[in-house]
Amino acid sequence: MKTVGFRSVVLYLLLAAFLGGVGFLTVELLLNGGKWAMQPYNGHLYAEESTVELGEITDRAGNVLAYTDEDGQRMYGYGETNRRALLHTVGDSRGYISTGVQHLLSARLSGYNPVTGLAQTPWAGSGRNVQLTVDQTACAAAFTAMNGKNGAVLVYNYRTGDLLVKVSAPGFDPEHLPEDLDTNEAYQGVYLDNTLSSSFTPGSIFKLVTVCAAMETWPDSWQERTYSCTGSEEIGGEAIACLHGNAHGEQTVREALGNSCNVFFARLANDIGAQALQAKAEEMGFNREWTFGTVPISESEIDLTGCNANQLGWAGVGQYTVLANPYHMLLLMGAAANGGRAVPPRLTENGGLSELLQGEETLLTEGEAAALRDLMRSNVTDYYGEGLFPAGMNVCAKTGTGEVGDGKAPNCWMVGFCDSAEHPYAFAVLVEEGTGGIESAGAVAAAALAALN
Ligand SMILES: [Zn+2]
Repeated sequence: MKTVGFRSVVLYLLLAAFLGGVGFLTVELLLNGGKWAMQPYNGHLYAEESTVELGEITDRAGNVLAYTDEDGQRMYGYGETNRRALLHTVGDSRGYISTGVQHLLSARLSGYNPVTGLAQTPWAGSGRNVQLTVDQTACAAAFTAMNGKNGAVLVYNYRTGDLLVKVSAPGFDPEHLPEDLDTNEAYQGVYLDNTLSSSFTPGSIFKLVTVCAAMETWPDSWQERTYSCTGSEEIGGEAIACLHGNAHGEQTVREALGNSCNVFFARLANDIGAQALQAKAEEMGFNREWTFGTVPISESEIDLTGCNANQLGWAGVGQYTVLANPYHMLLLMGAAANGGRAVPPRLTENGGLSELLQGEETLLTEGEAAALRDLMRSNVTDYYGEGLFPAGMNVCAKTGTGEVGDGKAPNCWMVGFCDSAEHPYAFAVLVEEGTGGIESAGAVAAAALAALN
């Protein structure tokens, strides 16, 4: 009797382990089956003649960005410029661009479900199609205005969160893969989406952060602070110079931001102090792990521990070791435009894609947002020239040129937004090795806004 009792205990234990295992697999299959089935190493899926037919991807106007033809070939939008402009948003046929919709929403596009797997079912139909919020025409206009340079362009509606323009370069035409794609140095980093997965020296766009730190340090008197600039000044034993050695004279914050005076902001940063500047930058989203849906965003970085006065000065003008990510800069501009709260960007309009949504983020106080709006508007009207942008858009902006060394031309930035109910657009533009903030990045921002007008 004793033996039988022991045996049944063992059997029950084995049965429990078996059922537990089945349960675990079922849950895992339901949760992750789609992802497993769509991995790039699943040759079945990404082979030239895949038996899995992915659904259609369209832009906000219904233009087809990707579809599968009768021969089972994955095809992309009409026209090479459109295809290249939307490469990192849509993704590639081999699944190497892991941040593309084709990869992120592969389970949905394939009609995958845990019961039938990847087998095509007649009832899957148009449920496999995905409509994006992007505007193909505006993406192509931004891409063209980049003039063959590498970089990142983002424009979104800061009220609804709709991403309208999302362009990353370098890239390639997904319908005609270059033969030397994996060997030619010109294609290095080609699978990386610079809007999400890269951070760059911000240069003068970081002065917006230094301004906010000044507001917090001297809430009642920051507007009256003045510093004088002779074009270059020794701070912490070494010179900090303005672009082209321009002497800007005695200036207020408003004037110094318009002139993008390095001497002014280097001295301001030193009076604010490293700790306060770093704390403000972190409040505004630096050193934070942002995600776009399931995609981790490359962090904007600042680390001022142990820096000397000269390094702090350079940090205050967005040099030293400071880095900025375009997606984060877009959020910051969305917050400035929207009373301090950034509406999270989204890429899809139709349902079932809630993973791409997240809650609002407060990056600025209402007062800071209002002050930035005012200062950045005066940058455009008094310094850059209203004529750069389409009429009536009421653009507020800040340019930047981040020096990268190695004899390379600077990272040219423009970030900003339209202070307009009719045109609720915020933008972040980065052009690598450009000629200037206005000339390179400003031209791209203007082209994208004109296409959305
Ligand atoms: Zn100056």
